[in-house]
Order: sequence, then structure tokens, then C-alpha cells
Amino acid sequence: MMRIGYGYDSHVFQEGRKLFLGGVYFEGEIGLKGHSDADVLLHAVIDSLLGAAALGDIGSHFPDTDAKWKGADSAKLLAAVVEEIEEAGYKLGNLDATVICERPKLRPKVEAIRARLAELLKVDISRVSVKGKTNEKMDDVGAGKGIVAHAVSLLEETK
Ligand code: MG
Repeated sequence: MMRIGYGYDSHVFQEGRKLFLGGVYFEGEIGLKGHSDADVLLHAVIDSLLGAAALGDIGSHFPDTDAKWKGADSAKLLAAVVEEIEEAGYKLGNLDATVICERPKLRPKVEAIRARLAELLKVDISRVSVKGKTNEKMDDVGAGKGIVAHAVSLLEETK
């Protein structure tokens, strides 16, 4: 059987923070506010995996009230979730993700993000899709206040 999962996340920009998207550092860009490193794309990916397996969500696994996760590297959170998914008897079929922001431009780093996600998810890069869009200047995302990410994961049963 295959199972589909969907994840969404959003974070607002905050001066003085470093920007990470999909585990890739964007030098010279303003970062996002958050308890962890605020990697909005990794958070959406995590929720899509947990959703597909019906194993809760990122907040129930890594509560932002827990000092343990302050400044946490979201790549480590994703690695832990990938392990949990494996133990529950699933492997990733494919992932499709969309990042929405007016800046930075994603395209120059899309291949690096796909490669990093494939590494963290332990799958071939051909199973990982990442797309960047703007919000056509509409709403707060379009006004450049933050970044939104959506992710869909398909899990295949291994047991
Ligand atoms: Mg988040």
C-alpha cells in the first residue's frame, strides 16, 4: 500500500538570523524567526512524512516549549523522522515541495537543496522535487514578510 502525506509551514523574516532552506545555507540573506533554525522547507517535509504515516506532527515530536530544540538543526530533526518512518515500515516513494517567497530566488540553489534533501531522506535525487515560486506580491508573503513551504510525500510500505 502507498500512503500520501501533506505538510505546510511558514516563518517570518527576522534580522540577525541565518537563512536555511532545505538544509542549504543562503549566505547574505535575512533569516527566519523560529525556535529551531526555522528551516521552513524541512519543517514542511517533516510534516508530510509524519502525516503520511499518521504519526502526528513536528510540534508533537519536537515541542517548541522544550529548550532541547532551541536553535536545533532541522536536518537532525528530519533525520530522526526518517528513522521513525523506517521503523514504522515505510520508505519514501517521492517528495514534491514548493517554496513561496519574493526573495531569495530559489532557482540557483534548487539542485543543492534537492541533493541535500535526497541525502537526508536516503533516496535518489530523482525522487525529490523542489520548486520555487513568488506570491506575485499578494498578501504578507508577497510583501516579503516571510516564507511559506508546502510538501507532499508518498510513502511505500516495506513490511
Ligand atoms: Mg516551522
